[in-house]
Amino acid sequence: TTALSVRDMTVVYNGFAALDRVSVDVSHGESFGIVGESGSGKSTLLRAVTGLTCFQEGSLTVDGRSYDGRKRDTSFYRTVQMVFQDPYGSLHPRQTVDRLLLEPLVIHGFDEVDRRIARALDEVGLGSGFRFRYSHQLSGGQRQRVAVARALIVEPKILLLDEPTSALDASIQAEILNLLEQARRDRHLTFIMVSHDLGVISHMCERVAVMKAGEVVETVPVEALERRE
Ligand code: ADP
Ligand code: ADP
Repeated sequence: TTALSVRDMTVVYNGFAALDRVSVDVSHGESFGIVGESGSGKSTLLRAVTGLTCFQEGSLTVDGRSYDGRKRDTSFYRTVQMVFQDPYGSLHPRQTVDRLLLEPLVIHGFDEVDRRIARALDEVGLGSGFRFRYSHQLSGGQRQRVAVARALIVEPKILLLDEPTSALDASIQAEILNLLEQARRDRHLTFIMVSHDLGVISHMCERVAVMKAGEVVETVPVEALERRE
């Protein structure tokens, strides 16, 4: 069954089409990759799917529900969570890990917050000793683990990953990818992952959309891209 369907989606910035009639279908439990050169529209597509960016034309269906692209819609914010490349950007440096994990729980009206925070930290391999650290006191890898915990804690169905390991050292990259893969299996999540790193994509994804100048030029099994390398 389809987790997410994007049909002929167009996003225009000041007359410039950052997305030009893009269509993508992702199945439940699939790990779907998006590749393409810088400026081809990958981030715009993810942001439109989360409701952070409006779209002027086309349609978006998530988990059987349609979404109106002309206005922001916060109702998807729980179901579709996003992890960004740079955890500095999404984690306030002067907040404790505890606060960072509490915030989404409060926004989405979850109870038993202590239990959920402890469990989320455990899931990403950080002990409860991290609860009262400030995010600026964490390493890049630890910070990205907190970003993943912050996404998982509200029990999403789809995780959008925008270059989730590009800012990390190679050894830490593998740890974060394994952590994500484990979470995907345990929680039956659907992944949509943007990366410029074909190694990361082939490790994580089954199918890949190739973007160029705002369009999806092809959608292929990941093996097809590996053969071209
Ligand atoms: P990618 O993620 O593939 O690098 P982006 O989705 O970030 O590409 O950007 C696609 C195009 O849209 C780029 O040309 C970029 O400059 C432009 N763009 C992205 N966001 C905005 C914005 N908020 N306002 C104007 N142009 C934008
Ligand atoms: P990415 O690393 O995902 O390719 P970019 O470095 O292209 O992202 O863009 C970083 C941010 O700047 C994005 O959030 C995008 O919306 C914004 N942006 C990119 N191009 C433009 C632009 N021409 N005008 C305004 N904002 C832009």
